[in-house]
Amino acid sequence: MKATLLNLQRMSTEDGPGIRTTVFFKGCSLSCRWCHNPESIERRPRTAWNPQACLGCRACEPVCPRGALRPPAQGPRPDPQRCQACGACARECPAAALEVLGREWTLDELVGELLRDRAYFEASGGGVTASGGEPSLWPGFVAGLFARLRAAGVSTALDTCGHCSPEALAQCLADADLVLYDLKLLDPELHRRWTGHGPERVLANARALARGLRPGQRLWIRTPLIPGATASPENLAALGGFIARELGPAVERWELLTFNNLCREQYRRLGRSWDFAETALLGAAELERLAAAARGAGLEPARVLVSGPTRLE
Ligand code: SF4
Ligand code: SF4
Repeated sequence: MKATLLNLQRMSTEDGPGIRTTVFFKGCSLSCRWCHNPESIERRPRTAWNPQACLGCRACEPVCPRGALRPPAQGPRPDPQRCQACGACARECPAAALEVLGREWTLDELVGELLRDRAYFEASGGGVTASGGEPSLWPGFVAGLFARLRAAGVSTALDTCGHCSPEALAQCLADADLVLYDLKLLDPELHRRWTGHGPERVLANARALARGLRPGQRLWIRTPLIPGATASPENLAALGGFIARELGPAVERWELLTFNNLCREQYRRLGRSWDFAETALLGAAELERLAAAARGAGLEPARVLVSGPTRLE
């Protein structure tokens, strides 16, 4: 069994309890305009060029079997229509300015790699988180991965946007100890505008998930606070009402994750513009207003947690 992964992130402390290794799957089912992980959006591997590292030596151009590095005027940015992510240019580059993002992994290879971190998981109460991109685009692989990890005594977490078929979600959940479930916007029109799809499937899956949690399985809801999009008191009050009313006691915590702009460089390397490149971090007072709206929405306030950077005011 195989899947395409962007990378593994070791020593992660933001994707569930304890020290974790996060597995970033390639491909996503939503198109959030604020996406903080643009390298994961496409399902297939992709080659990125870093203009800041490039020496302009043009050693990469002649080795490309697909002629994907023309025209050279703006630098050797691979043409996505031609590039097959073979990596020949990256191997030739003396400055590591070209990099293939993503590769195929077998299940055996991935499990072997993840079990190397078992001592960290055991010492910290951590484990492995499947994230992305959207892991539910690889349901058979995720199910196999989680089953093998749990059999080896490693705790598992699924980080999902919930925009998938109920069958795919059920497959991924079978051996998930924790679910990190994103709820972004409740208003259908806003959800469509900012993510490319309405929220109906996400909300229906959330309801089914909350009803069907097995004993010991934990559910955390996560909401990114994106200025101008999700970060409004109205949206947080609406989301909080939905969580309290329709998911209720199944929700162990609701995490509000503040906006950061650390991914600007990733967009640049991919040759893509980003609507939020110049957006400032949230201020502390603004964040307090948002947190108050969330805490007043019906869920027990102690279960609403806020994390991430704010700007100095
Ligand atoms: S080989 Fe590397 S440093 Fe030279 S032009 Fe190509 S990307 Fe730039
Ligand atoms: S990864 Fe391969 S196909 Fe893509 S630009 Fe480089 S050499 Fe060409």
